[in-house]
Amino acid sequence: MTQPVSLAQAVLRGFTMRCPNCGKGHLFRRFLKVVDHCEVCDEDYTPQRADDFPAYLVIVVVGHVVVPALLAVEMAYAPPAWLQLAIWLPVTLFSSLALLQPTKGAIVGLQWQTGMHDFAQSKNRRSANSTRSTESTKANTNTTSLKSHALI
Ligand SMILES: [Zn+2]
Repeated sequence: MTQPVSLAQAVLRGFTMRCPNCGKGHLFRRFLKVVDHCEVCDEDYTPQRADDFPAYLVIVVVGHVVVPALLAVEMAYAPPAWLQLAIWLPVTLFSSLALLQPTKGAIVGLQWQTGMHDFAQSKNRRSANSTRSTESTKANTNTTSLKSHALI
């Protein structure tokens, strides 16, 4: 019996580049390329449509860190422009590249958990399975209570 995966859990698993469904399989086969199916649980990831959203998020986050830092250094030390460029261009480049794939993983986890695009079929199947397992748990509980009543 599998527990339903919460939104935060799915996003975190995606951010750590693991399968949002099982948390064990790899979500990427190479840089920014999402696997078609999880190697562990066989969950289908072909419906993912992260598109440019991870890049927009990375630009927002990195921009809000780098620009204030650059301005603070400029205000405090007024270094020459070439030194500012030598520091902040590599910082921007490497932090963007480092955040891009985890951010894409988080977006795929978000799409998967909320049933966006063709993940709706997967979500419906998961809901049906969890309802079925809840019903079977209730049935087992009822059977157990009937047996205990029969013993009394
Ligand atoms: Zn998996």
